[in-house]
Amino acid sequence: MSVLKVENLKTFYPVKGGKVVKAVNNLSFTLEENQTLGIVGESGCGKSTLAKTLMALEEKTAGSIFFGGKESAQMSLKERYQYIQMVFQDPLDSLNPRKKAWEIITDPMMINTNASKKECIKKASELMELVGLRTEQIYKYPHMFSGGQRQRLGIARSLVLNPKVLILDEPVSALDVSIQAQILNLLKKLQKEMKLSYIFISHDLSVVNYIADKTLVMYLGKVSEYGHNDQIFNSPYHPYTKTLLKSAHISSSNEIKEFPKLIDTELPSPLNPPSGCFFHTRCPVAKDECSKIIPPVEIKREREVSCLL
Ligand code: SF4
Repeated sequence: MSVLKVENLKTFYPVKGGKVVKAVNNLSFTLEENQTLGIVGESGCGKSTLAKTLMALEEKTAGSIFFGGKESAQMSLKERYQYIQMVFQDPLDSLNPRKKAWEIITDPMMINTNASKKECIKKASELMELVGLRTEQIYKYPHMFSGGQRQRLGIARSLVLNPKVLILDEPVSALDVSIQAQILNLLKKLQKEMKLSYIFISHDLSVVNYIADKTLVMYLGKVSEYGHNDQIFNSPYHPYTKTLLKSAHISSSNEIKEFPKLIDTELPSPLNPPSGCFFHTRCPVAKDECSKIIPPVEIKREREVSCLL
């Protein structure tokens, strides 16, 4: 059963000079119950704008978002936030330094329900225990917790309204490697116990390979490749996916080892993307026609891919 369906989503920003940044450009995907969808791509490819659009922190320009079959336009914000919540990259930045742990965790509960202080403290204690924090830490402030503990607090807060979907925006990239593994295992445990579905945004392919069931590779707001993890990680089709895997050194396949490196240029400006295939200026196997023709998204070898080859 799908808990989140996104159809032809566009989030565009008008900028000075009448230009438009197409941060999310015609994305479609489905998230199933109890599954994790990884969203990968370089910084600036539109991952965070996608997350903000799903959370109604940015307004969509076009397209549809369905939460459990209900269109987002038919839902109040309160209803939406009972369905979907977000965990941010930097726990210190995202937690109010003047609030105690119990107040941070139950903030969404205080805003969206009529719960009393006593009920909030009880709920905060239960959630602290669930995410592996000691309940006697309930009256402590964020700076009194370690980085990993603060991310546990952020996760506890995201669960307070019993959502079905969590957006995890680079949730472990600010943490030490040993702590990353603990948080990833906690997320797996919570998913199993609470039947949660995750959108897991990351630039780290090895983390996404570990946690996700399906992966969507984004480049300048568009889908490059989207499919089950064994297809994306073991037999990638799109040249951008192959170059990402090659740089991450996580594929042992000869096809990836022998694939040419990404042409050494920076990600083009989303304000002025290349003609034709947006990737053609960096694609190591680009042909002449790639700068002239926009590749359509097609189903090839059981995944969606956008490449003229
Ligand atoms: Fe590379 Fe051409 Fe495919 Fe784009 S369409 S990814 S430039 S081969």
